[in-house]
Amino acid sequence: MAKIGMGPSQSGDAQLGWRLEHTYAQLPVALHVAVAPTPVRAPRMLVFNRLLARELGLEGERLAGPEGAQIFSGNSLPPGASPLAQAYAGHQFGHFATLGDGRAILLGEHITPRGERFDVQLKGAGPTPFSRRGDGRATLGAMLREYIVSEAMHALGIPTTRSLAVAGTGEEVWRQDGARPGAVLTRVAASHIRVGTFAWVAARRDEELLAALVDYTVKRHYPELAAAKNRALALFEAVAERQAALIARWMHVGFVHGVMNTDNMALSGETIDYGPCAFIDTYDPATVFSSIDAHGRYAFGNQARIAQWNLARLAEALLPLIDPVEAVAVERANEAIARFGQRFQWHWLAGMRRKLGLANEEAEDVALVETLLEWMRATKADFTNTFTGLETLEVADAGFADWKASWRARLTRQAQGAEEVMRLRRANCPAVIPRNHQVEAALAAAEQGDLSVMERLLAVLAAPYDYGVAAAYREPAPNGGAGYQTFCGT
Ligand code: AMP
Ligand code: MG
Repeated sequence: MAKIGMGPSQSGDAQLGWRLEHTYAQLPVALHVAVAPTPVRAPRMLVFNRLLARELGLEGERLAGPEGAQIFSGNSLPPGASPLAQAYAGHQFGHFATLGDGRAILLGEHITPRGERFDVQLKGAGPTPFSRRGDGRATLGAMLREYIVSEAMHALGIPTTRSLAVAGTGEEVWRQDGARPGAVLTRVAASHIRVGTFAWVAARRDEELLAALVDYTVKRHYPELAAAKNRALALFEAVAERQAALIARWMHVGFVHGVMNTDNMALSGETIDYGPCAFIDTYDPATVFSSIDAHGRYAFGNQARIAQWNLARLAEALLPLIDPVEAVAVERANEAIARFGQRFQWHWLAGMRRKLGLANEEAEDVALVETLLEWMRATKADFTNTFTGLETLEVADAGFADWKASWRARLTRQAQGAEEVMRLRRANCPAVIPRNHQVEAALAAAEQGDLSVMERLLAVLAAPYDYGVAAAYREPAPNGGAGYQTFCGT
């Protein structure tokens, strides 16, 4: 076991299923810095994702115990690890900043038995050259929150980074509200290449580096574009398509990311960085949970617009490779950026149709969806439960009665019968989402050493389309969640 003040030891004899490679480390040094996790005092496994471990081909039984606690706290490195911090920049609330992994350390890329490649990263594993004034650490509450919400997103069918483990450190971290228990999260991701990674390269005005990053990203995430005529533009279009689909999925379940800075937008199309995120109860596009989002830049209803803004920063970074003539590059980039609106609208409407049980398309479907949403906003209806309960929902409200009559009429204009409609709806309207008050209760109990509340919540969230779930998990917060606040950098 490593002692405090020393670097981590290389973990013992067995492979435990690890197969780590390091293709990112082979990219030019401007993109990464070798740095080891800082060992912690008393590692303790708090939650371990056995199902994910199995998918990854890791020996879950052994890793769930003390051996895993050593690895997932950063005290010992898994065999073949070669830890590094990634360099990147990002626009935070619209302002450019150089950032980099200030508290995250990449152990390597694990190759699964099926040959897939996943980054394995420790979050909260100690300072790096990018920590600036930060301590490189994370609170137990914030890391469990990422675990709960990211795994809930996965179960909902939404592309996301995964959470393999949270290990307690036995150390305190100091935040605005005092000393909190510390923890390390093990994050598993298709990659950690961000829009901000490209922004970092663009700021260096190094075209060769930019070409290498485009090359790498295409190989890793969009191999079908390898032979594209204009690879930078093709990459942009493909990323825009995945982001359009992703943000639409967020809008279908009421997810507010909360801090859509360009460093928190992944080229892979996965949801990444669960800081101040939360789900809406009451439907209101203006909903903001993050304590620092004073102007609602990242409000629920603003997410598609912000995604497009972020993509414009990606396009900007790619300009030199889109066309050697800047004016031409700008024009082509602008056209591609403009197409995001239609891309998003298409995915959004397709998902909303499914939620309403519509299997065919009519031009008036947009109005049907928007009328319902506007009624929900005006009456402060619960987003999740309104969708799940449409069949039986009766309210003494002429507006809703009219809407329901047009929905019923609309359902007769397709071949599908009631049973098929119900099946389609139930596969697209989750019965449970991570309700904010439930998440908070789980975190509060965990901070007191009781993990059982979180374990029960995780089990429920693993099957979000199970309509047989206990009613308590389906109820909104007593006051519709009004005033709920979340925080960054905890
Ligand atoms: P986030 O808002 O979580 O995306 O973080 C933005 C930036 O701040 C990233 O570069 C993080 O690595 C860095 N950061 C957040 N918390 C800490 C911390 N406690 N210590 C060092 N860096 C941090
Ligand atoms: Mg981030």
